[in-house]
Amino acid sequence: MKILPVIHNNSLNLLCAKKYLASTINSKSDDGSMRPKSAYTYRPASFKGLDTIAFIGDLKNLDNLHCPLCGTKMFSKKESAAAMEEAKTVKTPEDLCKYLEKYNEHINPEFKSILKDAKLKFYKNTFPDIDSFLESLRKDYYKKTNHTIEKTFETIDNFINDESLNAHDKDLLLKCRKDFFEAAQNKSHKFILKRLTDILRETAAFLQSEEKNHIYTQILKPLRMSSKAEFLFDSRELNNNDNRQMAFLRNMFYYSNSDIHKVNNKMEAQNDSILNMMLSCENCAIEKNNIFRLNDHASRLYFYNHISELSQHALNGRIESNKAYPLKLIALVRELSFNKINPDYNAEPIKKLSETTGVINNKDCDFELVSYKDMPCITCGQTTITHEQKCDIYEKIKNTTTPYELAEIINENIDLVKRKYLEVADEISFEIAKNPSIKDDELLQNLRKYKKQKNEQLLSGFINYGHAAIKKYNLHKKDKERMIAYLKAVKELKDDLKEDSPFDYETYYKALKDTVGKMDTPHEKEMFKELKLPARTAFLSHLLLFPKKETTEKVGTALKVMAQDLFKNSVATTANLNKMADPHDKAYRRNKPSDKVVMCRSCQNELNGKPMSLWADAYPEIKENMSKNLRKADEIIRKNNIKGYDLYAYEVVQNIRRLSEGQIDISLNSI
Ligand SMILES: [Zn+2]
Ligand SMILES: [Zn+2]
Repeated sequence: MKILPVIHNNSLNLLCAKKYLASTINSKSDDGSMRPKSAYTYRPASFKGLDTIAFIGDLKNLDNLHCPLCGTKMFSKKESAAAMEEAKTVKTPEDLCKYLEKYNEHINPEFKSILKDAKLKFYKNTFPDIDSFLESLRKDYYKKTNHTIEKTFETIDNFINDESLNAHDKDLLLKCRKDFFEAAQNKSHKFILKRLTDILRETAAFLQSEEKNHIYTQILKPLRMSSKAEFLFDSRELNNNDNRQMAFLRNMFYYSNSDIHKVNNKMEAQNDSILNMMLSCENCAIEKNNIFRLNDHASRLYFYNHISELSQHALNGRIESNKAYPLKLIALVRELSFNKINPDYNAEPIKKLSETTGVINNKDCDFELVSYKDMPCITCGQTTITHEQKCDIYEKIKNTTTPYELAEIINENIDLVKRKYLEVADEISFEIAKNPSIKDDELLQNLRKYKKQKNEQLLSGFINYGHAAIKKYNLHKKDKERMIAYLKAVKELKDDLKEDSPFDYETYYKALKDTVGKMDTPHEKEMFKELKLPARTAFLSHLLLFPKKETTEKVGTALKVMAQDLFKNSVATTANLNKMADPHDKAYRRNKPSDKVVMCRSCQNELNGKPMSLWADAYPEIKENMSKNLRKADEIIRKNNIKGYDLYAYEVVQNIRRLSEGQIDISLNSI
């Protein structure tokens, strides 16, 4: 999942820890120590009610937790205080190495190299005191991170030369480079950092590239890294009384302190605030890491591990103010990530917590209606089958001993076969009626022979249609040539039809697109549709006659696989209307029941990604079908008293009206 960058003009820009800390150094935290606050930290003052305060207290006291975003082991307040107390005993280079080794797990990945360097230095050289040891570490780390302003120019230039950026974005970056060059004439390092952030923020806001967040962080990175190094080795901002090694350790482990941050910055509602809280390390807060950055399985494991640790804490009675919090957090994150971040509910502490609290998290089963029998598909209107029904039919088919028995099962369930497959279903029944003792192979041969004839007829029909269209629509010279090219391609395909291979729809579709699809006549659309849809249907049903070898081996015979396949596309699936109508629409990241509808698999495959305003083209009777679906849904909701679905039908109607831009307007009276 790619996430667009969020560039808030009003949010604190945490360019670098130093600048950030300097600006917040005066804020005293509740324990009285000079401890900086992150911009994303919830302050108890902004919450109403004691429960929230108790909850925040509970969260802050949780120890032995890893950051859900970067996997670093975090310090709770108490753990941090103890570790800093222990740091006071660090007097020699050896002490320092041992200390870092002991808290290795707590060191942020960005600083891991320091531990390695320290150990190497310690074994290779002797240092008169800890000061000179730290100074040597500092020099090395600076060498690694203290990239100059030239490095920043280099990064900008690389993006300017990047071919994937469009001219608009390149112009913006050129201007940014020019502005930055002027700013860089100033001597003050701090001024340059601030100015660069401002310039970049202005630039990034107008970049069109999907990668703009990446561009922003990459350009800032060299300076951000060097500022962090500066903070690490040369700052006493967290405590003025620290000696050098103490300041270094305090600064380094500051990044690993846990604090409460928002799960989603865009979620505003006060009611949600208690849910919208999550612990993470300070470094992730400074780097603005959030759950949307968990893009691969490996990084999602950080979150899963965190949830598992939290659940164990909850079971141990450490989050009594909000015991089910880990489960609620799972649900929220799952929803925000469209099910991409989805921990295993059967993992031990999570499962146990769910049983203890009674908060159930059905995996991907938020949408209740998909598991009820006899729901009509919202678009084609045909009755869908539940997953269980499908398994039942498959099993029955598998257990038949003769083709005759098999035909009986097909006939019993003929209403559930998709219309486009009816032709094949009928032909199977017909062949068996003709010869009840027919063998599988012979039956398959007959079906393929039959289908080849049907395809010949279909293509002949197209040829006749094409010839007629030239006259009927009075095609001009160029279009006429296109039609003749189409007819030639169809003729070739027709001559090439075989019994033992499926209809070559791909070649057909390409020929159609390159000829009829390019016509100038206003009748182009109509002709294209007439020549496309029947070919597609023929292709899909022809495919049934060529089941996969592996499936055949598993089920027993090719005939049985074919029979099963007659039902596979009738299965009820959950269709997310927002996502289907526009897979790139990020404005509607909602996940209410009424964003979902029951649709057969066949329709879901066909309509996915197609704007809803065009759905009626494929299903002219779509309004009636939708009413039928919602009527049934309403009946099921009332009969079973499904909670949270009271307004389901009403809200779906609104959604459909919005997403189809008014093209599909269902009357509530029809439901
Ligand atoms: Zn982190
Ligand atoms: Zn359907």
